[in-house]
Amino acid sequence: MAKISEVFGTMVFNDNIMQEKLPHDTYKKLKKSMAENKTLDRSIADVVANAMKDWAIEKGATHYTHWFQPLTGITAEKHDSFITPTGDGKVIMEFSGKELIKGEPDASSFPSGGLRATFEARGYTAWDPTSYAFIKDGTLCIPTAFCSYGGEALDKKTPLLRSMEAIDKQARRILKLFGKETAQVMTTVGAEQEYFLVDQELYYRRKDLIFTGRTLFGAKPPKGQEMEDHYFGVIKPRVSAFMKELDEELWKLGILAKTKHNEAAPAQHELAPIFTSTNLATDQNQLTMEFMKTLAGHHDLVCLLHEKPFAGVNGSGKHNNWALSTAEGENLMDPGKTPYENAQFLLFLSAVIKAVNEHQDLLRISIASAGNDHRLGANEAPPAIVSMFLGEELTEIMEAIANDTDYDGPEKVKMELGVHIMPQFSKDSTDRNRTSPFAFTGNKFEFRMLGSSQSIADPNVVLNTIVADVLSDFASELEQAEDFTSALNTLIRRVYKENKQIIFNGNNYSDEWVEEAERRGLLNLLTTADAIPRFESQKNIDLFTKHGVFSESEIISRTEILLDHYCKVLNIEALTMLEMARQDILPAAMSFSREVTETALCKKQLGITPKMEEGLATTLSKLLNSLQEKIDGLEKAILCTKEIGDVKSGAQYYKNEVCTAMEDLRTTADELEVICGKAYWPYPTYSELLFSV
Ligand code: ADP
Ligand code: MG
Repeated sequence: MAKISEVFGTMVFNDNIMQEKLPHDTYKKLKKSMAENKTLDRSIADVVANAMKDWAIEKGATHYTHWFQPLTGITAEKHDSFITPTGDGKVIMEFSGKELIKGEPDASSFPSGGLRATFEARGYTAWDPTSYAFIKDGTLCIPTAFCSYGGEALDKKTPLLRSMEAIDKQARRILKLFGKETAQVMTTVGAEQEYFLVDQELYYRRKDLIFTGRTLFGAKPPKGQEMEDHYFGVIKPRVSAFMKELDEELWKLGILAKTKHNEAAPAQHELAPIFTSTNLATDQNQLTMEFMKTLAGHHDLVCLLHEKPFAGVNGSGKHNNWALSTAEGENLMDPGKTPYENAQFLLFLSAVIKAVNEHQDLLRISIASAGNDHRLGANEAPPAIVSMFLGEELTEIMEAIANDTDYDGPEKVKMELGVHIMPQFSKDSTDRNRTSPFAFTGNKFEFRMLGSSQSIADPNVVLNTIVADVLSDFASELEQAEDFTSALNTLIRRVYKENKQIIFNGNNYSDEWVEEAERRGLLNLLTTADAIPRFESQKNIDLFTKHGVFSESEIISRTEILLDHYCKVLNIEALTMLEMARQDILPAAMSFSREVTETALCKKQLGITPKMEEGLATTLSKLLNSLQEKIDGLEKAILCTKEIGDVKSGAQYYKNEVCTAMEDLRTTADELEVICGKAYWPYPTYSELLFSV
């Protein structure tokens, strides 16, 4: 491999390349409209487009695409080649400013939740110059936002950019109170990505993996993750080769892939990049997931990004590390070293505490999916209850401030804001609790409830907006204050007292916490079907419209899309189970049963008592009867869904009836797997899937 520094970012039309390839005044105008978030002037756009095209062709590209993130949760692209006929049977390569700035994909097949009537099928994509263009697989990809002609967002990117603007505006109001002017405050994110790798040949023998991304049947193997020998273990050669190729491809795209290691479950791994602006981090995480999927094939592997590919071992999540940074690179979530920096930090910290407490519902909603429902609260991931970990030291400091008592740290002090210095927190002391859904880890927050396959856009839209909202209230209050320091003290004290029920430093996986959280009045929205409908509550409509992040109709349509998606996922899973049970499992168990019964008959003819065979045949017969009953039960449940008119009741029905019927069917099928001969069983087992790579 070439040196990392030589390949890094070579496929990105980044700032350096822009400076190199664009006339100086064009470059300056482009940067200006990027900073002001304005659409490019057509004349500049033509120059930029031409430079981009020449650069891309030099790198071997033949096509371009507007790369966008519709509400399907994955990315979309439609490739057009650069060729334009010249009339003499030849072609030239062209790419205009118009094509760079705006695209009009026929978008009628993307979910819009009623925002775009089918007769008005067109949506348009618009270049987001804050995310650089890049080349992937011979195509120049232009990151774009995707909207309807009425201006409503049809994608994940648009609200994310709006939410970044909202928090930028409010955070700068706060900084002004501390006498600071900065060009921009942006949120930064580092998304740690978990995934599974399974052997490709085995994968293609399992319809459940192919159609749903997870195993719908499968008895537990003799060994799971109990030995804890996979976590951080030596990486096997085939996996290592995959990881190397992945790193290299991501580096070419300017993605700072940094850490890779084996995870807790067998066949599970993790990749963590170095953090960057939330907008870029979102694009980069989508690309990371896409490359994981495509590159795995080069190594005869398949990458599973599902939240729960295997029952009985940990599923996969994503940790969203989040902080705020000024244009000068000051991390506003860093406690700092002076009393002054401490005071500013404590104000931002208080904003996050209040935001998380007041909008538990939104944080829960932002990570809700059928897949993630299998993880949350299953002793491998935080529960569905949103709470916050501050660590002992920081909690004690907040308590001391709130109660006006001494802080019993290295020395007893009264923590007076703006006068005393807080102790430095080592990462070690803030990072011990791995069970918290939302943990302060020294100089950033780690939101740990995300599912592995989801776009990180949704949780960050929520985080940015809820914190922006609290900052806006804080700014309004403090801007009026005559004595800033004393107003600050009062505010921090009050906010902490009013919101401290959200802070929990204990074990989030314990049953006691569920009871305690209920006593505290915290929300516990167990499933997606329970969480999503709350998205369109008046509180949330008021919040998002106030900050211009979502309009009311965007919220209502998104609620519909999310619930509809949930039902569709469960419907596909249920149909896949029916097909597998009927076509493969039932016949397999019947063959084995016939073998057993025939052996019993033969033995009898020879005068031998077929004790074992009779026992086994009876068990098989019982289980087969039960299997058929459960197949019928699931089929009936699926049929009933047709009669449900609205999507909210539909989601409830899927959760209550269809999921239960699926679990029932699985239990019996897994019991059959355990007693059937290996040669009869139609699918690769968990042992093979989890331990063969
Ligand atoms: P863990 O201990 O959870 O495995 P690591 O320390 O390996 O986490 O990684 C944490 C992630 O947090 C990395 O992606 C890192 O780049 C990111 N991170 C660090 N600082 C910030 C910050 N200021 N803003 C956002 N993300 C950050
Ligand atoms: Mg982490």
